[in-house]
Amino acid sequence: MRLSTQLLLGIVGITVITQSILGLIAYWIIADVDKTYAFQTLRQQAEDVAHNVAIPLVTGDTDNLALEQTHRYFAPTADLSLILDRGGLRGAAGTALPEIDQKSLAERLQQSMAGGNNTSGQIDLPAGKFRWVATPVVGLPLQLVLLHHAGASGSALTATLNSRFFATSLAILWVAVWIALLFASVISRKLDQKTSALRHQVTHDTLTGLPNRSLLYEELSSAISTAEATANIALMVIDINRFKHINDTLGYDFGDQLLLEIGARIRHILPEHTFLARLGGNEFAVYLADTSEQQATACTQHILAAMHTPFTVNQVELEVSLSIGLALFPQHADDADALVRCADVAMHQARESHTSCSIYNGEKDSHSVRTLLLGAELRSAISGGQLVLFYQPKISLDKGEVSGFEALVRWDHPTLGLIPPDEFIDLAEQTGAIQDLTNWVLEEALYFLRKLHRNGFSLGVAVNISTQSLRDFQLKPRIMELLKSTGIAAHHLTLEITENVMMQDIDFAQEVLESLHKLGLHISIDDFGTGFSSLAYLNHLPVDELKVDRSFVLRMMNSSEDLAIVESVVELAHTLGCSVVAEGVEDREVLTALGDMRCDSAQGYHIAKPQPAERIQPWLEDYTAGTASPAEARMSTGSPAI
Ligand code: C2E
Ligand code: CA
Ligand code: CA
Repeated sequence: MRLSTQLLLGIVGITVITQSILGLIAYWIIADVDKTYAFQTLRQQAEDVAHNVAIPLVTGDTDNLALEQTHRYFAPTADLSLILDRGGLRGAAGTALPEIDQKSLAERLQQSMAGGNNTSGQIDLPAGKFRWVATPVVGLPLQLVLLHHAGASGSALTATLNSRFFATSLAILWVAVWIALLFASVISRKLDQKTSALRHQVTHDTLTGLPNRSLLYEELSSAISTAEATANIALMVIDINRFKHINDTLGYDFGDQLLLEIGARIRHILPEHTFLARLGGNEFAVYLADTSEQQATACTQHILAAMHTPFTVNQVELEVSLSIGLALFPQHADDADALVRCADVAMHQARESHTSCSIYNGEKDSHSVRTLLLGAELRSAISGGQLVLFYQPKISLDKGEVSGFEALVRWDHPTLGLIPPDEFIDLAEQTGAIQDLTNWVLEEALYFLRKLHRNGFSLGVAVNISTQSLRDFQLKPRIMELLKSTGIAAHHLTLEITENVMMQDIDFAQEVLESLHKLGLHISIDDFGTGFSSLAYLNHLPVDELKVDRSFVLRMMNSSEDLAIVESVVELAHTLGCSVVAEGVEDREVLTALGDMRCDSAQGYHIAKPQPAERIQPWLEDYTAGTASPAEARMSTGSPAI
């Protein structure tokens, strides 16, 4: 029900209730007045009759006749006149009440008057309730009693009062209805204005005045619910690249101004009724109803093109680039929530791949959801003992002996199974869990090595060290402590640091590696050939080993360029006084070729896959006993390696 109708009904209702209460009170008052008035009239008549009946009675006329005449003449409203003396009924006159036993009535009246003071009252008779008034007949020992039906229609005064009251009520009601109408329309108009101002405030962004996220959801939901089966709806999520950097360097006021300008420029190039919203922060959204993928893509290109002209804010000229994610209903999502999420994921995909615009891709999305979940669980997985360390042997190519192992971590997830490190090492870096991970790997690897040493295998272990771990000031003291507690000599521990990490901050790397090298640790540059090592710097770094990236080794028999790279790395390493390890050796042919080019060591599936700790000693025993060729040894382990 509309507010104005509610107000109208409310005011009219209150008026009717008030009038009813007042009417009831008025009725009581009138009834009271009416009763008093009726008694007064009856008494007046009784006195008239009593005065006039006395003469005929005194002059000897018969009681009844005299009474009849005076009753008719002087008591027009009385139903019955009675003359009583001490003995009871003396005479009666009146039109009504034939069924009344007048004698017993006279007795009842005399009983009522018994006190002497009672000269009026009410009496119940078969015909109803009657008012009675008694008065002495002047000069005679008689009492005259007049009776009048109490239920008879009220007096003229009552009738007048009733009709006036009724008219007044109607008038008040009429006025009330009009006042209510007036009130209702004024109040509801004011409320409507307030409500729409409030709604605007809640559904629009205060800075740009554009619709906000909640209005976007509302519009999208209603568009989706009413969309025809063949209709397409496209949603773009637009992110301003490096906006945080702009805010940090040029200030928030500048950022706000820039947002206004960008919003206005996007608005300007969009077709008139296209919905543009600000999602908050540096994100806008555009939704196109009844469109196709081609049209939506063309629209994103227009938006991107509009950014080519730099923005000028407070005399500062600035170039702005965007990342736009595009998702379509019904191809990618079937409700507003999912559509916004898909466009958001696509926007992140665009930003990460530096492609400006990306259409939602379900496969990449499920990967990113899994990544998110893993990221949240990783820390507790480390402390909860879900990590396992596998070891992959390296052999020297001249003697064919095992020269050591590389420790490679896996996550034994309770529901997802064994997860390879490529899926969670980056996550560990991003979430800060890498320190705990590296500490765990170092401890596990060194205690494993101690066991091997005690069993007569005096070999080394290599541990991968990520960027952040290298920057961790606790790394060195932690390694020293572990070497001390396990009694392992420092030269048995190799730290593998990828070439890229090293080249990011060469001065820092040099300082840290030198201090670790001084401890006696071996330093190996991992994935060598994928980065951009400057030979000049390489010469100054305390490096003991280069590990040729497996991508070159894997392809070296099929690609002369890759073969040339492997040969150059071997040569470079020897020139620098380092040893070379080729990883990714998957067959005998490669192993022989590496031996021919005087590569020092080899690591790969042909020799052995990475295996859990408990498989290593049996494998070593088999291998050193020479019971199996490298490839056969791998087979014979029946290793569950991954
Ligand atoms: P990486 O250091 O280059 O490790 C060698 C990778 O090559 C391992 O993958 C190994 O299983 C694989 N591999 C060995 N032989 C062959 C072969 O013959 N053919 C092929 N195709 N691959 C071979 P994995 O174990 O999946 O490790 C992947 C990467 O994860 C490692 O690359 C390393 O960068 C990182 N990683 C592993 N464990 C750790 C760790 O404890 N700490 C850190 N920071 N990173 C680790
Ligand atoms: Ca490695
Ligand atoms: Ca490697």
